[in-house]
Amino acid sequence: MANTIQAIRGMHDVLPEQTPLWQYAEQVIRDLLGAYGYSEIRLPIVEKTELFKRSIGEVTDIVEKEMYTFEDRNGDSLTLRPEGTAGCLRACIEHGLLNNQIHRLWYYGPMYRHERPQKGRYRQFIQLGVETYGMSGPEIDAELILLMDRLWKKLGIRDQVRLQLNSLGTIAERTVYRENLVEYFQAHIGQLDEDSLRRLQTNPLRILDTKNPAMREVVANAPELMGYLGTESTGHFNAITAILNGLGISYEINTRLVRGLDYYSKTVFEWVTDALGSQGTVCAGGRYDSLIGQLGGKANHAVGFAMGMERLLALLETLDTIPMAKPVDVYMVRVGEKAQQEGLRYAEMLRDAMPALKLQVNMDGGSFKSQFKKADKSGADLAIILGDDEVSRGEVGIKPLRDEQGQQMLLQSQAIAFLQDYLLSR
Ligand code: ATP
Ligand code: MG
Repeated sequence: MANTIQAIRGMHDVLPEQTPLWQYAEQVIRDLLGAYGYSEIRLPIVEKTELFKRSIGEVTDIVEKEMYTFEDRNGDSLTLRPEGTAGCLRACIEHGLLNNQIHRLWYYGPMYRHERPQKGRYRQFIQLGVETYGMSGPEIDAELILLMDRLWKKLGIRDQVRLQLNSLGTIAERTVYRENLVEYFQAHIGQLDEDSLRRLQTNPLRILDTKNPAMREVVANAPELMGYLGTESTGHFNAITAILNGLGISYEINTRLVRGLDYYSKTVFEWVTDALGSQGTVCAGGRYDSLIGQLGGKANHAVGFAMGMERLLALLETLDTIPMAKPVDVYMVRVGEKAQQEGLRYAEMLRDAMPALKLQVNMDGGSFKSQFKKADKSGADLAIILGDDEVSRGEVGIKPLRDEQGQQMLLQSQAIAFLQDYLLSR
């Protein structure tokens, strides 16, 4: 086994025993997005490098050091998408979806960032992205928050996450703030780490987003962007908090929340948790009206968010019980030549009668004993047993596998009714 090939660091397989939890979360999410009238959009995983440079910003962590960029055989510079917002907007501009239209969209899939892998931080990770276009808000900003609030409740993790809100104002407001912020940090230059010194020249707001505990104090005492907002931005922000107050959704205003990407304006928000250590942001987003123009589209409105699925799953794993479907309900044991043949026919009949039944049929023969072992391992609740004797009498045996009840003999037709009852009572 010395020569086996391993997966790439930070890129994980989801093994069959983990997929039910993924499928459960995905189903709840899909249903919920449907209930709010959101449509799915499917986008390429690879885009032109230029798209991310122009949208995410040249001096962000992602573009500076996290992108998987390569030259394809034509010599074009391509990048594995590090996030979905840019590609989604690119597609909508390209296909004319933003011409006097309103859209509520979502996408789901892998993103790629060359980060240092650790719990909750991977090089391939899955995001649910939700993007809306054509609405100037603040009600749509609030709708996105309501949608997530409902998701946490449905998944039973509402008490594990908190909403943080901030406003980044307009570009003009940020420019004035930026000058004052630079002045402040220059006055405290001795307290800045290497990253922050660099950002002081390129992107000083991002210093506020530092994860370095040694920088906490200097950041805590920095001027607050909120104080620099004009009436338009303040009004927009206050309208969102008024809606949330009215609907009983609690939030914290975090004036240090700037987000890692450059394209936001006005509203930004994060759902954070204390249950996952330092990778505490599960879902993050905000308004990014100006990005549309930056990518060559006509002025318009956009607000959206992305949720990290691995972090969501990690939260679900902290729950005692999760209402998850089993992969197998019933395992068919069939011993003897006639039973082998008859079993396949009967299994197809059961599948016709009960499309929701998860039925696994034993393969490659074996004794009753060895087949029961496999039945047990499959996780099924029930075994259906066919021997040659049963077949000649038109009967099947049914045996519960998870309690001490014995086997009962039923006519094949009675067994269908029995399984239908089982499905209903599950
Ligand atoms: P962080 O501050 O944790 O690096 P970020 O600001 O870079 O996050 P976004 O680009 O806003 O993250 O992505 C939205 C969400 O996607 C995050 O809140 C997180 O749940 C998830 N996410 C981002 N990067 C990773 C990663 N490398 N591995 C797993 N999940 C991630
Ligand atoms: Mg990051």
